[in-house]
Amino acid sequence: MFVGHYAAAFALKGKEKKASLGMLFIAAQFVDILFFPFVVIGIERLKFVPGFTAVNNFNLEYYPFTHGLLGSLFWAGLFYVGYRFVLVKNKPQKASIALVMALGVLSHWFTDLIVHTPDLPLVSGAPKFGFGLWKSKALTFAAEAILLVLSLWYYLRQTQAKSALGRYAAIAFIGFLLLINYLNMFVLPANDEINALTISALFFYFLFALIAHFVERSRA
Ligand SMILES: [Zn+2]
Repeated sequence: MFVGHYAAAFALKGKEKKASLGMLFIAAQFVDILFFPFVVIGIERLKFVPGFTAVNNFNLEYYPFTHGLLGSLFWAGLFYVGYRFVLVKNKPQKASIALVMALGVLSHWFTDLIVHTPDLPLVSGAPKFGFGLWKSKALTFAAEAILLVLSLWYYLRQTQAKSALGRYAAIAFIGFLLLINYLNMFVLPANDEINALTISALFFYFLFALIAHFVERSRA
């Protein structure tokens, strides 16, 4: 899953308004931010198999540190401790901010579960899980779009626009995310070169987080 992960970020922001939306974007995508560099340096393994699913060529053979449920819990715990005891330790909402950040990290595994083939381990080996929506481009695109639109609706209900910009920025942003997803899925050729794929993935993850940061400043 790609942009659908940000549904968790919008929903958690709606729940705890003192948490940073930009950082929730990083949290929701955190294990993928680690995954691509981990493949590059050989800690985890991704094999490109043409036609492996309709959406991409990813045979995700071995990635327990970022996409094992236990590994995800570890990174979520790290976010919790880092937020609660370091980053927001002086804020009265520190426990609740730390919790939504940790849930953001953990949400990645459960949203990946919808689309991945059974390749998500609990720890490392079998059993592995995945409902396999990647078999269909249309269903994958629809699932990500539905998650984003529902979370946007909740986020807009929970926050108020500070200006005309704030009224439309979040809606335009979701439109932009869906456009990128559409181009990625239906228009652009598959990117099967791991270094180029890593650079483009990280570029978009940080770009989206930066835009989320500015969108959030337009709303209270
Ligand atoms: Zn992932």
